[in-house]
This record gives sequence, structure tokens and C-alpha cells, in this order.
Amino acid sequence: MYYGAIEAGGTKFVCAVSDSNLNIVEKINIPTTEPKDTMKEVFRFFNNYSLQSIGIGSFGPIDVNKESKKYGYITTTPKKGWSDFDFVGFVQNQFDIPIAWTTDVNASAYGEYKLGGAHRANSCLYLTVGTGIGGGAIINDGILEGFGHPEMGHILIRKHPEDNFDGNCPFHSNCLEGLASGPAIEKRIQNKANSLKEDDPYWNIESYYLAQALVNYTFILRPEVIILGGGVMDQKHLFPKIRKEYKNLMKDYVNTLDLDEFIIEPGLNGDQGLMGCLLLAKDEINK
Ligand code: ADP
Ligand code: ZN
Repeated sequence: MYYGAIEAGGTKFVCAVSDSNLNIVEKINIPTTEPKDTMKEVFRFFNNYSLQSIGIGSFGPIDVNKESKKYGYITTTPKKGWSDFDFVGFVQNQFDIPIAWTTDVNASAYGEYKLGGAHRANSCLYLTVGTGIGGGAIINDGILEGFGHPEMGHILIRKHPEDNFDGNCPFHSNCLEGLASGPAIEKRIQNKANSLKEDDPYWNIESYYLAQALVNYTFILRPEVIILGGGVMDQKHLFPKIRKEYKNLMKDYVNTLDLDEFIIEPGLNGDQGLMGCLLLAKDEINK
């Protein structure tokens, strides 16, 4: 028997099938186009296997409230065709098996917590800094969700005095995502983010924003480990810069692990979302 995983991103879907020990037996990438076309490819892939359950980690915002009529839907995304898409319903219609449903970053947090950089910790937070900024937290052995899922990318932070960019979040302009996501960097510098040299002074501003966010998350959630992923964090030199800013802002007010062990890279090397989905698929059977 197999488990299925769908890591649904705005650019591509990554799907995988694992055996009952969560060893991946096959994995594919499918471009995110219109729901019907993308899902057709997803179903074609899964149809080769006898699946027990499926775990979905989706781009958002999504409805995760089991009491809601729109549970399982992607809600207000600007992505053409996907707004108000009944994702879980569509999959359930094809495969009448248990389906786990959460955000892409919650799945990544869960993957890292169980099998990755936080596997020895009792709690963790995962933040992606890419096309958007989003975070998920594992507290008390489970994914943190309230009335909806967290929206950690849209927190409000202080502007850096040397930053003249107004921000590009369509809702809040200068929230964290509006100031520090990949597209925010690119709009600010009018160039690709990866064109900036390691010693470009902009990276200190980026680190200041991300460190503020991590200080806020620490105060509210007290995670044991914070994992930073996403395209922007491919700039590995950001890690020491963020730790330094974090220390400046935190002023030793709360205890954390040594910062080199507290603010870390993903341990699963890009597979954190998929592994999280597979783990959630397995949990769905063991419930
Ligand atoms: P997504 O968020 O769509 O899942 P990524 O996490 O790869 O995908 O994020 C893509 C964004 O990250 C791009 O908008 C780009 O600005 C930024 N990015 C990608 N690679 C790099 C890099 N090496 N250095 C800095 N920024 C990068
Ligand atoms: Zn915002």
C-alpha cells in the first residue's frame, strides 16, 4: 500500500508516492496551469498506485476550518482559476480515501519537525522566504491552527531607516512580505534578487526585516528551532546576518538554543514539504 503527497505551489505541483515506510518510490513535477489541467496530470500519476491516503500541502490562502462549508478550498488567491477551487472535494471525488489538508508551509514545518532539522526538538517554526513569505509552526506535537491557518508573512514590522521602498503587498504595502519577499527585493532593486553580491548593503536590510519577524515569532510562540527555507534563503550568507540582527533586537530577553542551532537551514533539502505531506497522509490512516 502507498501514500500520496501533493505539494501544490503557485508555479508547480510536486507529487510523490511513497511506500508504507515513507520511502519515495516516484515523484513528478507538474506545472500549475488551470485546475482541471493540472489535476488531470496529478490523477494520471496517482492512478498507477493503490493509495491508502493522500496528504496535500497547498499554496494559500486556504480554508482549513473543518466546520466551514468551504473546508478544503483555496480561497482568495489571485492565481487565475484557483480562487474558490474545492481542492479536497476534487481529489476526494477521484479517490475515495482519507485526505489530509494543510498549507505548504505547515507541511514543511511538519516534515522538518518529524524528520528534518527539528527532529530532536519539541517544537519548531518553518518560514519560507520566496515568491511570498509564509510560516507554519508545530507546537505540542501538532500543526498550529486557530480559526484559520497563520499568516506569518503579513505581520507588520518597522521600516529600516535606509530603505526607501514602500513595499509591494497588495493588501498592506509594507508588511513583512511586502518588504522582504523575492519579488519585493526585485521591485526595489529593479533586478533579479540573485544578482546582488554577497556584500551588497541591501542584505543587511533584508536581514533586519527577517530578524524582526523571528523575534516576534519567538515572543509569541517560543519555538525551539526556527527553519528558514525558500528561494531567497539560497543566499546562505543571510543566516549569520539574520542571527546577528536577531541578537541585537532580542537583547537576551528570552532563552533560545545557541543561535547557530536555533536559526537553521532545512534538513530535508527541498523535500520538507513532500515529506510533511506523506507524514500527514500516514497520520490520517493512524487516526
Ligand atoms: P516559490 O515561493 O514560488 O515556491 P521559491 O521559494 O524558489 O519559489 O522563491 C522564488 C523567489 O525567490 C523568486 O521570486 C526570487 O526572487 C527569489 N530567489 C530565488 N532564488 C534566489 C537566489 N538564489 N537568491 C535570491 N533570491 C532568490
Ligand atoms: Zn501583506
